[in-house]
Amino acid sequence: MKNEKILIVDDEPFILDICRRLLSKRYTVHVARNGLDAIALLQQQSFDLVLSDIKMPGLGGLELIHEIKDTQPEIACITMTGFSSLDTAIKAIRSGVNEFVVKPFEPNDLIEAVERVLEKERLRKENIRLRSLLPLFEFNKSLMSTVDISRLLEQVLSQAANEVPSDYAGLCLLDAQGNIAVSQALASTDIDQKKFEAYAPQLIRIMQTKHTQLVLDNPFNQGPTEALPVSSTETLLQQLGMFSVIITPLSGKAGLLGVMITARKTTNFEQSETSFLSVLVGQVTIAYENARLFEDLQQAYDELKTLDHAKNEFINIAAHELRTPLAILTGYAGILSEDISDETQQGYLSILNRNAMRLRGLIEDLLNMRYINTGELELSVSEVDLQQLVTQLLQDVSVLATEKQIRIQTKITEPLPHIYTDQQKVELTLTNLLANAIKFTPKQGEIWIDGRALHDGVEIAIRDTGIGISQSQVNKIFDSFYQVEASLNRRYEGIGLGLSISKGIIEYCGGTISVESQEGQGSRFIITLPFTVPQSTVG
Ligand code: ADP
Repeated sequence: MKNEKILIVDDEPFILDICRRLLSKRYTVHVARNGLDAIALLQQQSFDLVLSDIKMPGLGGLELIHEIKDTQPEIACITMTGFSSLDTAIKAIRSGVNEFVVKPFEPNDLIEAVERVLEKERLRKENIRLRSLLPLFEFNKSLMSTVDISRLLEQVLSQAANEVPSDYAGLCLLDAQGNIAVSQALASTDIDQKKFEAYAPQLIRIMQTKHTQLVLDNPFNQGPTEALPVSSTETLLQQLGMFSVIITPLSGKAGLLGVMITARKTTNFEQSETSFLSVLVGQVTIAYENARLFEDLQQAYDELKTLDHAKNEFINIAAHELRTPLAILTGYAGILSEDISDETQQGYLSILNRNAMRLRGLIEDLLNMRYINTGELELSVSEVDLQQLVTQLLQDVSVLATEKQIRIQTKITEPLPHIYTDQQKVELTLTNLLANAIKFTPKQGEIWIDGRALHDGVEIAIRDTGIGISQSQVNKIFDSFYQVEASLNRRYEGIGLGLSISKGIIEYCGGTISVESQEGQGSRFIITLPFTVPQSTVG
């Protein structure tokens, strides 16, 4: 059985009975004995089709249809007539009748006429639905790129006005507390917008529990709903001076984001129009959520920028302020070491010196990090003999390696070419990588340094048999202050800046730095450097 509802109107009980029997197998059927009863029924419930006799005492069939077409134009109408005169046919068509059947009719004639009209109606509705989706699709594209909320409101209201003409269309957007944050409306000149504004908070409260579109129209099809009983619907429509009102909620992920109120003074909205508003508001909801997200992001970004600036300033001031007392400390330590002959005291002094050096290294790291972040790092470029540099470095770290009985081997078969770069900074990077390799490799482990010329530069790699890095961490180790081990139970010294500085320096020099590693299997850090530092980064 199809779910369309048909109202049959005839003063002749037998005809009424025959029609009911024929059609109720396929549709939901109601009957009325005269025009006035039919109008009363039409005011209580909605129908898809009215099948009416023409000649009836009181309100005639054509007048009834006239009335229906005035108030509920979407209802299809078929008339039954005893005489098929041209005059009656013309009158019927003028009143908006979709088809008429001539009495006496064969059962099939009636069934086919009804089905034909309903099928046309189905197609018409589908057509409207599809047509209304097209502008929505186009509109969606511009809507989704709108991050300015008042512009969004304007766009939506004018799109709604284009597709669903109404006497009032208003859109309220709520803030996180559920209060109206912004609202805009388009209304005919004779509409008192203040009334709508006064009702808006009440409608928003209803929508906060209801979440789905509320259609208040004539007859009060909604029936007594929990959201708004018939009596209140009637009062609301009367107070607003409207024939029908649709309240469409913007239901976002986090609850109600707003409501759209659309109203007409003299007619109902068609089903296709209410669906259109539903889809439109659905799109607006996503766009509004995007815009709110964008605003939050922008705010968070601005806050971060301020924080970042403060951090850079702090590092700058702290590092410079630490340098002077450190210089005084190391200066007097130097003087003392010349005056002291006692071995124990000399031992104390060398501890003092070693830690002063560590502190100096930390200050240099902080400053380098700041210069890299602010783009103020300055390169001092000269011809660098990489082969010699690597040999020198191996000597420098040999003490550390020997302490842990780690063997370092070079696997450079061809002498490395000379390149033009910042020697000190490349040296700092290679020292960081080598120091890490020693630090994260257990006693008696091994480290290899290999290097080769590339067609556009050089590649140097440092491989160790150390603790390795898991796949989930490997991409993070170049971030500032990132350390695989949580700082509270760390077994290794350091502040997590070495690799991010190395990355910054190498990239400044026009090269790359990467790592291949497996947890428990050791790591291989690879840097590449071009023959010449790019002009853009030379200060
Ligand atoms: P730091 O060594 O001061 O902690 P780095 O920036 O040099 O900071 O390194 C960041 C982290 O990357 C280290 O804390 C460590 O967890 C990991 N890491 C660096 N080099 C190695 C390596 N050769 N083997 C294993 N883990 C390493």
